[in-house]
Amino acid sequence: HVQAPAAAVKTTCPYCGVGCGVLATPDGQGGAGIAGDTEHPANFGRLCSKGSALGETLSLDGRLLHPSVDGVRASWESALGAVAGGLRKVAEQHGPDAIAFYLSGQLLTEDYYVANKLAKGFLGTPHVDTNSRLCMSSAVAAHRRAFGSDTVPGCYEDLDEADVIVLVGSNTAWCHPILFRRMVDARAKRGTRLVVIDPRKTQTGEEADLFLGLKPGTDTALFSGLLVHLASTGALDYRFVLDHTTGLDGALERARSIAPDIAATAAATGLGEAEIGQFFALFAKTKRVVTAFSQGVNQSAQGTDKGNAIINCHLATGRIGQPGAGPFSLTGQPNAMGGREVGGLANMLAAHMHFAPEEVDRVRRFWSAPRIITGEGMKAVALFEAVERGKIKALWVMGTNPVVSMPRADAIREAIKGLDLYVVSEAVADSDTAMATGRKTVLLPAQAWGEKDGTVTNSERRISRQRSFLKSPGEARADWAIISDVAKRLGHGEAFAYPNAAAIFREHASLSAFENNGTRDFDIGAVSDISDAAYAGTKPLQWPLTKRGAKDGRQRLFADGQFFTFDKRARFVAVQPPVLAQPVSEGFPFVLNTGRVRDHWHTMTRTGKSQRLSAHRDVPFVEIHPDDAAAMGLVHGGLATVSTAHGAAVLEVMVGQGMRRGDLFAAFHWSAATASEGRVGALARGIPDPVSGQPELKATPAAIAPA
Ligand code: SF4
Repeated sequence: HVQAPAAAVKTTCPYCGVGCGVLATPDGQGGAGIAGDTEHPANFGRLCSKGSALGETLSLDGRLLHPSVDGVRASWESALGAVAGGLRKVAEQHGPDAIAFYLSGQLLTEDYYVANKLAKGFLGTPHVDTNSRLCMSSAVAAHRRAFGSDTVPGCYEDLDEADVIVLVGSNTAWCHPILFRRMVDARAKRGTRLVVIDPRKTQTGEEADLFLGLKPGTDTALFSGLLVHLASTGALDYRFVLDHTTGLDGALERARSIAPDIAATAAATGLGEAEIGQFFALFAKTKRVVTAFSQGVNQSAQGTDKGNAIINCHLATGRIGQPGAGPFSLTGQPNAMGGREVGGLANMLAAHMHFAPEEVDRVRRFWSAPRIITGEGMKAVALFEAVERGKIKALWVMGTNPVVSMPRADAIREAIKGLDLYVVSEAVADSDTAMATGRKTVLLPAQAWGEKDGTVTNSERRISRQRSFLKSPGEARADWAIISDVAKRLGHGEAFAYPNAAAIFREHASLSAFENNGTRDFDIGAVSDISDAAYAGTKPLQWPLTKRGAKDGRQRLFADGQFFTFDKRARFVAVQPPVLAQPVSEGFPFVLNTGRVRDHWHTMTRTGKSQRLSAHRDVPFVEIHPDDAAAMGLVHGGLATVSTAHGAAVLEVMVGQGMRRGDLFAAFHWSAATASEGRVGALARGIPDPVSGQPELKATPAAIAPA
């Protein structure tokens, strides 16, 4: 890590999807001073607690620094040989679809692109999915159903320019803090009203002008009621609906069957009629409304319908693609968007293309791919179930910790033992995933933030550079270089002869523009010939960046009412009535909701290094309503066992006024490495949404008792 002190390097925060610009100034001792980049349009110099503590997380403690095979240190040559040999053997014996890749929203776009290309074009396996499946795949599916494309219509400026911001299933104050600051600023500047919809009254709810603490899983009823209200009070934009959409009648008829009036909406959601009426009236009379939604919507067995119920209300009022108006998916991870762009989800091929025969053929020709896949692969939950069943024989995990974060995490750790080949590319030596073992286990040391170099895309379609400002420690390498070296050993050297990340970015940008006549939303063709020097110095860019018509970096899409469906019209979706995928029972009478805390990120492999961040919440906990705590004999600060049909965890009790009766909340950050009894991922079943495949993580039937 140690190198000479240097000038500040502009890079991007590796945590949430806000994608804040960071100035990192290496101190010559392996560390760096950290400040917000005042020129970055996501944050204009601000950083939240996690971002500002990045300098405290750069030590090499716990880093994976050398390759190993079956626990024995190995050379890169033999480790890569073991990976290539193992993949070849599994493909020969069981076929290529016995191979799976599990990627990460932490990977850079260039890493993601190369992994996806190797799997889907050259190995010929469709089973490439990512932890982004757990993050925003329901938003992707809702976008595609409504717009014909996975397009986030708006931009961060909309938050500055809205008169009402509705936050659904989002503790924005903790999980997207810099965007929340923008919202608070908008309130101070223009009187923006903040409506927060969440079963739990978090800090975000505390700051709301109107807080709606609905029953878990009832969002489709609330937004169906809103659609009915908009129609019955003359608040629809019929000109927009007639000219630019289709399907309102069906969606409205379904909405009327779910929530015909405010009284029925109240009965379905557990809210009061007066507060519902207040929300509906505010939405109906305000032109500039942004509805921002996050994991409370997405991490649900009905997540796609929830997203479409929200989008329906914006289409019905024409509030989309306009300044200060639109539905807005807040992405959890730093590069979930980049992963979508390259096709890192199992239901995508590449560059926002899917599996229409002409799309498959186009990608095949562009890559000169010998084994292009022709259909979708298994999504995360199904993929790991296939590992359990022995259908997947080889699994390569990159930059993520599914043994902690996946639902049924204990079962996944067990299932890995049966793999013929288990490969983990990681920066951390002792993550639960790196510590798990298959019949043959290969650990490959990957570069971490500050060492790697490439691009990420944030929630508003803005591509920013993550730049290297520290030397790679030990034998750590870039993920794209590791994957390319395996590809070369499998005989695909020519297609993976990348000299640097810039070359990969150029190829990715070229594919986005290849035979793209404007029917595909993702297009960054205008930078497909970017030079190495320009790539090194490039400023944040918002897509689309198309060569056609030189339309560079549009802030908003759909302002012209033109969508990416064949007839250019957006679609209303008739959503299903709310129902919990797993109802509570006598044995499991509580509803367990999982999520994050303010100062930790995912499984704490980075934030856990900062004492300051760890001080915020230092032990795994469960939050419970005071009356429920009293009824169960639990006291604040005591210990409780939370159990579900899938596992149990011992957690510290936090009695919280913000909880609904009957609900529990636990954060998923802790692992076997940090709190062996506190693995909350092991508690959830994770029943997937039938459209998106995103697992339910917000409503697991649970029991609680003093430990
Ligand atoms: Fe990083 Fe997100 Fe905080 Fe910005 S808001 S500094 S991207 S964690």
